[in-house]
Amino acid sequence: MSEHVDTSRRRFLGGTAGAAAGISIAPGVFLNQVAQAKPADQPVSSDNRWGMLIDTNKCGDGCDACVRGCMEENGWGDIHNSEPHSSPEQKAQWIRIVELRDTSTGYAHQLPLMCQHCKHPPCVDVCPTGASMKRADGIVLVDKHICIGCRYCMMACPYKARSFIHEDLQDQLVVAPRGKGTVESCTLCVHRVDKDGADAVPACAEACAAEGHDAFVFGDMNDPNSEISRQLALHGGTQIRADLGLDLGVRYRGI
Ligand code: SF4
Ligand code: SF4
Repeated sequence: MSEHVDTSRRRFLGGTAGAAAGISIAPGVFLNQVAQAKPADQPVSSDNRWGMLIDTNKCGDGCDACVRGCMEENGWGDIHNSEPHSSPEQKAQWIRIVELRDTSTGYAHQLPLMCQHCKHPPCVDVCPTGASMKRADGIVLVDKHICIGCRYCMMACPYKARSFIHEDLQDQLVVAPRGKGTVESCTLCVHRVDKDGADAVPACAEACAAEGHDAFVFGDMNDPNSEISRQLALHGGTQIRADLGLDLGVRYRGI
C-alpha cells in the first residue's frame, strides 16, 4: 500500500472532563461545555460497537469529499486555515486518501483511511498517561486534558492515523476541542454519535452521500439488525492488515 494523495490537507469521557469543568483549554472552548455534549445519565455501553463500512468501489476518481467533510465538521485543515505555519507533513490529518496499487498488474484505486478504532488498540497500550483510550462502545479517542504530547501513540499506530499539533490554534469548534502539543485523530464524530446514537451520520459519510457516492455505512456492529451488520453478514468486509489481529472497527469492501 503506498500513500498517494495528501489531500492537503470531544467530548472526552465524562468523568475525566467533569473533574476539571470550567477550565479553558483553548480560546472559547471550556471543559464544562465539552462535558455537556452527552447527558450524564446516558453512559456509553459495551452493548454497542460503533463502526464503519466503506465500499471503495463507490469512491469517485480523485474524490476527497469525505476529507473535506471531516475538516469542515471538526475544524482542522486548510478549510479553517488551521496550522498556517506547519508544513503539509506536519499538519493534522484525521482522514486521508491513500492509493492501493497491485504491483504486478498496476491496477490502482483509492480509499479513505482514518483511525480504524481498533478493538485492541496499540495506541492505548503505549500511552503513559491514559490519554489515549478506548470507550466501552469501541470509539478510540485522545483525552487532550492529559495528553503530554510524547507521541508514543503515533509511533505505535500501524495506520499512521494520528497527528500532532505544533502550533497555537484559533477559532476552534466546541464539538472538537484541539490543542497545541497534543495528538489527535478521527473521533468517529463522537459528538454526533453521543447525540444521535444509531441514527448518527459521521461527517465524512454525510459528505460522501451528498456527493452521490454513498460509500460509507456507519452503525452498531453489535446489533445484528443494523445496516452495517447486515451488509457485513451478506458481503463480508476486509480489515486492513488483518494479520495484526487488532479487530478493526472500520471495514472495507472492494479491496
Ligand atoms: S488505528 Fe491507530 S490510532 Fe486508531 S485505534 Fe488503531 S492504533 Fe489507535
Ligand atoms: S468519522 Fe468523523 S472524525 Fe472520523 S473521519 Fe469521518 S468525519 Fe472525520
